[in-house]
Amino acid sequence: MRTILVVGGGYAGFYAAWRLEKELRAGEARIVVVDPRPYMTYQPFLPEVLAGSVEARHAAVSHRRHLRRAGLVAGTVTAIDHAHRTVTVHPAEGPDLVLGYDIIVVTAGAVTRKLAIPGVAESAIGMKHVEEAVAIRDRLLTAFDQAATLEPGPLRRRLLTVTVVGGGFSGVEGFGELLSLAASLVRSYPELSPAELTFHLVEARDRILPEVSDRPGQWVVRSLEKRGAQVHLNTELVSARNGHVVLSTGEQFDSELIVWTVGNAANPMVHSRTDLPIDQHGMLVVRADLRVGTDVEPVPDAWAAGDDAAVPDLVANRPGAATVPNAQNAVRQGKLLADNIAATLRGSEPKPYVHHSLGTVATLGLGRGIFQYRRLVIKGFPAWLMHRGYHVLAVPTWERKIRVLAIWLTGALFGRDIVSLASVQHPREAFITGGEPALPPSDAPADVTRDRGRAVLAGHG
Ligand SMILES: Cc1cc2nc3c(=O)[nH]c(=O)nc-3n(C[C@H](O)[C@H](O)[C@H](O)COP(=O)(O)OP(=O)(O)OC[C@H]3O[C@@H](n4cnc5c(N)ncnc54)[C@H](O)[C@@H]3O)c2cc1C
Repeated sequence: MRTILVVGGGYAGFYAAWRLEKELRAGEARIVVVDPRPYMTYQPFLPEVLAGSVEARHAAVSHRRHLRRAGLVAGTVTAIDHAHRTVTVHPAEGPDLVLGYDIIVVTAGAVTRKLAIPGVAESAIGMKHVEEAVAIRDRLLTAFDQAATLEPGPLRRRLLTVTVVGGGFSGVEGFGELLSLAASLVRSYPELSPAELTFHLVEARDRILPEVSDRPGQWVVRSLEKRGAQVHLNTELVSARNGHVVLSTGEQFDSELIVWTVGNAANPMVHSRTDLPIDQHGMLVVRADLRVGTDVEPVPDAWAAGDDAAVPDLVANRPGAATVPNAQNAVRQGKLLADNIAATLRGSEPKPYVHHSLGTVATLGLGRGIFQYRRLVIKGFPAWLMHRGYHVLAVPTWERKIRVLAIWLTGALFGRDIVSLASVQHPREAFITGGEPALPPSDAPADVTRDRGRAVLAGHG
């Protein structure tokens, strides 16, 4: 029996494997999915995860539960040797494995783009994975708890300052949701005032949200500013050492939370550890039918889709245009890829990928959103409802839809949960210290410790 090996069970890979499971007849082919994560991340929910409107676990669609017929291998593919039809897999434990296959599907996605800006690697958190969204939320909640015990001053200001770098789709959605979370959170902290919250969105270009046209983009800037945010256009982050942000305009401030969302870079494995053809951006060269290669030089038995593949955009009317790297395309490409593999196994011709965009819808925080389809623009609450409606329908499996709806419903009734569980990072601390308070780090400035003590005493009368 032939083996179809899927590298990466994210959007495109999960849908491809899911569809193959349904389409292939018994004995037609075996499916194997390799991914270091045991779930597909529903990334469009991450902004709501960091706002506490969607449970983190609900943005993770379990492979084991939903891919019932596929073999699942927990590990990272470190190399693809297509000439010999093998991949090398690095599991979390144990020696590397070499797996053979007959057909490969490369859907390993992209990675967060990094720039060599001092301090970013140490201070900033990305926003592509569930753990990042959880950490962002916990850091904000913890900062509120800490700021509430301090008297006004530099440390308290730093704790209440949030910086998001990158005004693309995920940056703006994350920023809007954080702003919304902070605005509601401050109502539970009589020690703090809304005027103390400082939110910076830093974008190198002269506009944000390139997925929408200029005027709706400007409306988003204005609406964020009306909510108290500072949007820095034509501005780059110069340095973020120890949370001290320096902008290209010369402005400087300390920021406890720095979120890094400056876009995608090529997956390094795809870029440099395969013998499959890649383009100048490190993306797999793919034909319109999602087979790897060109019309002149097709690569047999290799398919790719999603953010790691330059799929020709047949509706763009621009020679050489590739489809936009988004979930809308990744899902549909994953499904078509499965259909095309099944067709070719049965001697039929694969079909080309043709998709007309359904438009763009983004959340800007609870009750706020923006939608654009060609010249139709919808703003505010109706757009936010459309965002929620679209994503609850789009998240795979009824089980996920119902869980997410239930959380939204309880959130509407009782508000969001506002406790930080940052302590899960140190699960043994309470047991080891036996309830003794953790001592401040020896390098903490003396005035910080004094400020904190005074404010706590004042609070206790
Ligand atoms: C915060 C955020 C919000 C977004 N919101 C939207 C939205 O509202 N609408 C929209 O259309 N798009 C949205 N997107 C974009 C969309 O999520 C991506 O375009 C989509 O996930 C791409 O799918 P993919 O399958 O190519 O990659 P991914 O979904 O990233 O999946 C890649 C998978 O490959 C695995 N992998 C990586 N390397 C290896 C390796 N070497 N070996 C094995 N496995 C590997 C990863 O663990 C992952 O599971 C958003 C993205 C983000 C970050």
